[in-house]
Amino acid sequence: MVRITLVRGDITAEKADAIVNAANSSLLGGGGVDGAIHRRGGPEILAACEDLRRSHYGKGLPTGRAVATTAGRLAAEHVIHTVGPVWSRDEDRSQLLASCYRESLRVADELGARTVAFPAISTGIYGWPMDDGARIAVETVRATRTEVQEVRFVLFDAAAYAVFEAALGASS
Ligand code: ADP
Repeated sequence: MVRITLVRGDITAEKADAIVNAANSSLLGGGGVDGAIHRRGGPEILAACEDLRRSHYGKGLPTGRAVATTAGRLAAEHVIHTVGPVWSRDEDRSQLLASCYRESLRVADELGARTVAFPAISTGIYGWPMDDGARIAVETVRATRTEVQEVRFVLFDAAAYAVFEAALGASS
C-alpha cells in the first residue's frame, strides 16, 4: 500500500521522481504552484507544454486529467500537470478533484515513478476549502491502486499542514 507523508514547504524544491503541478487547462502557466514550477524549472517545461498543446490538447487539458513533461531544472525527474476543478457552491465537483489525484497516479505509474509529491490541488486560486480538499486528497490516494510507494503532500503553510494531518488521522 502507498505510504502517505506530509511535508511543509515549497513543492518546487522537492526531490521526488515526480512532482504534480496544479495547472490550468491552457498548460501555459499561471499563478500559485504553476507559476513557481515554471519560474524555477526554466523554459524547457513550458516548451514541453506548448508541444503537448499542439500535438494532443488543442483545446487545453480537460479538468481532472493529467499529463507529464520534463521537470527542466527542478530536482524532480518529471512534472505531472493536472487541472483541478474550480470550487463551486452550487455544483459538487468532488469527483473531478478525486480524478486529478487518480489520473496523476496513473501517469506516475506509466513513468515508473515511485515517489510523487502533490500540492493541495484546487485549494489556492481555485478556491476549494482546505479541509474538504485534504479529505478528498487523502481518501483518493488511499483508494487508488498504484505502484507508487510514497505520496508526499507538500503543504505551503502551517495551517494547510495541520488540516492534512487531521485528514490523515480521520481516514486511517
Ligand atoms: P489551484 O489553482 O489548483 O487552486 P494554486 O497553485 O493556486 O492551485 O494552489 C494550490 C495550493 O498550493 C494552495 O493551497 C497554495 O497555497 C499552495 N501553494 C502555492 N504555491 C506553492 C508552492 N510553491 N509549493 C507548495 N504549495 C504551494
